[in-house]
Amino acid sequence: MQTEKYDLAIIGAGPAGMMAALRASECGAMVVLLEKNSTPGIKLLMTGKERCNITNSEPDLRKFADNLGKNGKFLLNALYHFGIKETIDFFHKNNLQTKTERGGRVFPESDRAKDVQGLFLRLIKKNKITLLTDCRIKKISRRQNRIEKIIFDNSGIKAENYLLSTGGLSYPRTGSTGEGYVWARQMGHTIIKPEPALTPVLVKERWVKELEGLSLKNVRISIYQDNKKQDDRFGEALFTGSGLSGPIILDMSKSIGRLLVNGEADIFIDFKPALDFKVLDKRILHDLEEYGNKSIKNILSELLPKKLIPVILELAGIDPKRKGHSITKEERKKLRLLLKEFPLTVEGLSGFNKAIITTGGVSLKEIDPKTMRSRIIKNLYFAGEILDLDGPTGGYNLQVCWSTGYLAGESAAKSTVFHT
Ligand SMILES: Cc1cc2nc3c(=O)[nH]c(=O)nc-3n(C[C@H](O)[C@H](O)[C@H](O)COP(=O)(O)OP(=O)(O)OC[C@H]3O[C@@H](n4cnc5c(N)ncnc54)[C@H](O)[C@@H]3O)c2cc1C
Repeated sequence: MQTEKYDLAIIGAGPAGMMAALRASECGAMVVLLEKNSTPGIKLLMTGKERCNITNSEPDLRKFADNLGKNGKFLLNALYHFGIKETIDFFHKNNLQTKTERGGRVFPESDRAKDVQGLFLRLIKKNKITLLTDCRIKKISRRQNRIEKIIFDNSGIKAENYLLSTGGLSYPRTGSTGEGYVWARQMGHTIIKPEPALTPVLVKERWVKELEGLSLKNVRISIYQDNKKQDDRFGEALFTGSGLSGPIILDMSKSIGRLLVNGEADIFIDFKPALDFKVLDKRILHDLEEYGNKSIKNILSELLPKKLIPVILELAGIDPKRKGHSITKEERKKLRLLLKEFPLTVEGLSGFNKAIITTGGVSLKEIDPKTMRSRIIKNLYFAGEILDLDGPTGGYNLQVCWSTGYLAGESAAKSTVFHT
């Protein structure tokens, strides 16, 4: 068997693995990057609806970490070492200009995730990183608390240090199928049960299919269980063929998942959060009087998206052709309620196939946050989504990859006795 020797072997060429490879090579290490797909960064191409929300411009790093929940503080060392400013500078220095949108979401000025992938491919070449694609690893062999080599069918790779950045389990068709967890477990690491997160919500009401594709801006969505409000958010959402998605739903999906363990949960959409019940009632009454000879379907088009009107009228039991002046007080009350508290019953969450991120993964207790090195295997490092670390939408999850990848790559390189 022919065996090649490197300073650092990285398994998984997603954002975390590519950033780690670049930093390690900048520090002088001879790096091999192993990827099972025919090209690196397949998931990266899909990010931000193919626009790639690179990071979030949140200036306070503690707040940034807090937004990742209880595990967020693990990220602080990596963030202070290579944080948001350094990430944006990195892209600018490499001729990728950025722009910041609502909620601090940072995107390439070109709106093309492909440009982000292209930048990494160029730098991998420039830094003389050995990239092995279509790579099928058979085994990672270990002696006591050190990895010895990576074994393929007819060859092997030996390195001083190894880095696992194989991602999670979400969107498995992009290559993230969880082998990293299996290897980490075999080497003694604890895997916190991976679960889909940032996922669309499925509802019982089959008629949502009629609303598929309808995107909602400036709405408030509340989640209830046992008639008690559990969570609510203001922002954008989207009807899918089987429920709801979009930023506020994705961000609430983790808490909805937890509620479902205890029983049913209900969603209420307030399509008019800026108007309270009284003001909205006045507005509807005014429109019904002003345009009394028009059909209710047309009158409502001033207030609601077109696609929503037949559904609302059906639920209120009002014939869309009825004239405004014929609408009764009782019917007006029903309309008002549907506009402020449009009810849906949660059936469940979409699985890994549609989850933006995996929550759970390699336990952070077994990793040194100052270096990303395993506390169990002396020459093993971790970076990216494989870690038990996940954040909300808005660029947080890619920043986890840039920061942990950079730190892991640098630490692995610095602990290496370089080959000449
Ligand atoms: C649709 C979608 C949109 C998203 N949009 C955003 C966004 O705009 N902003 C944001 O911050 N986050 C976004 N995310 C999340 C973000 O994409 C992930 O956090 C990020 O890709 C994780 O990077 P990673 O390098 O850890 O893992 P991955 O990107 O999953 O990369 C892991 C790599 O390892 C390879 N691999 C796996 N197993 C093996 C093996 N056995 N041998 C060799 N190679 C292997 C895989 O093929 C893959 O290339 C989005 C996710 C999805 C699914």
